[in-house]
Amino acid sequence: MTITTPTRTELKGHLVLPDRIMPGRIAFTDHIQAVMPDHAAIPDRYILPGFIDCHVHGGNGADTMDGVQAIHTLARFHARHGTTTILPTTITSPWSHVIEALGAIAEITGTTIPHGPNIHGAHLEGPFVSPHKLGAQPPHALAPTPERVAEVLALGCVRIVTLAPELPHAADAIQLFAQAGVRVSLGHTAAGYEQTERAICQICAAGGTTGATHLFNAMPGIESRKPGPATALMCSDAYAELIFDTHHVHPATFRLAQRVMPDRLLFVTDAMRAAGLPDGPSLLGGQQVVVEQGAVRLPSGHLAGSVLTLDAALRNAVAAGVPLHQATALLTRNPARYLGLEDRGRLHTGRRADFVVMDPALNVLEVWVAGQQIA
Ligand SMILES: [Zn+2]
Repeated sequence: MTITTPTRTELKGHLVLPDRIMPGRIAFTDHIQAVMPDHAAIPDRYILPGFIDCHVHGGNGADTMDGVQAIHTLARFHARHGTTTILPTTITSPWSHVIEALGAIAEITGTTIPHGPNIHGAHLEGPFVSPHKLGAQPPHALAPTPERVAEVLALGCVRIVTLAPELPHAADAIQLFAQAGVRVSLGHTAAGYEQTERAICQICAAGGTTGATHLFNAMPGIESRKPGPATALMCSDAYAELIFDTHHVHPATFRLAQRVMPDRLLFVTDAMRAAGLPDGPSLLGGQQVVVEQGAVRLPSGHLAGSVLTLDAALRNAVAAGVPLHQATALLTRNPARYLGLEDRGRLHTGRRADFVVMDPALNVLEVWVAGQQIA
């Protein structure tokens, strides 16, 4: 039997740490062995922890609903944009199709795709959503009955479930999911402030962690006498996804959320299969959509998913005035905390060697997953 020692590699650059940016070096194998300040001959580039995308349907022509090979394709595409941990996300579809898609994700959960990211598990987005707040989800919403919840939990791969708390059986489903360690992400909901607050309390009482699915989108807005679900989520200890492609959320609305919840806000792409492809017609959950200048719309004009990548979201955040190290937390440290992944999300000794190397304009130069540079 031969035992191979993993080779030790070093990267030099401006290290993006949680509280500052430091010129230095990182030594690593598949995990980080040392993070050292170094002021000598530091190349003009940034080194960031690998990005974590909790909500992504597709990219480069592939969609999560199409099975394992398609997930490989979309995951590799997003890895080239800095995503080193990914949660392939289903879309509201007939129940048998949802279960089939989750079965495919279960096959590769916990693995790292060659030249791609680590697959942490699935985000089940739909069918447990409000038929009145579908957004771009096809009209196959279902109630989270105990039988359906049991079927999902038996597959063992769902890490996040999007759930509208006003649905029949929602209270029981919240308890079952939260007790099983699944993050309950409130969203695609018509619930008001009080109902959302009650759901947050139920998740907490079951020992769970609350999330919000694309905060502000597919939920009622904030008004003077109707604070709505967004206020309940922002004022609790919930984590919240944000699609910051500047189409779904205005830069000022992003800054508001970032100030209120700097440690609980997380960027997601919600990207669809057209991400990375030229403008033109595409398909989302079997529906015709059109991609034009970074926005995806249904024929009705309704926004439908995105063609965002996480590196672009980071550039948008910095352009909106958030310092780079604070913006970086939104795609690294915060989603890692949300998911309970203590082995990643920071440049720190002992963490996974997942890195994104970026030029001064924040374009991706290199991506490393568990100490291996991806092509
Ligand atoms: Zn989505």
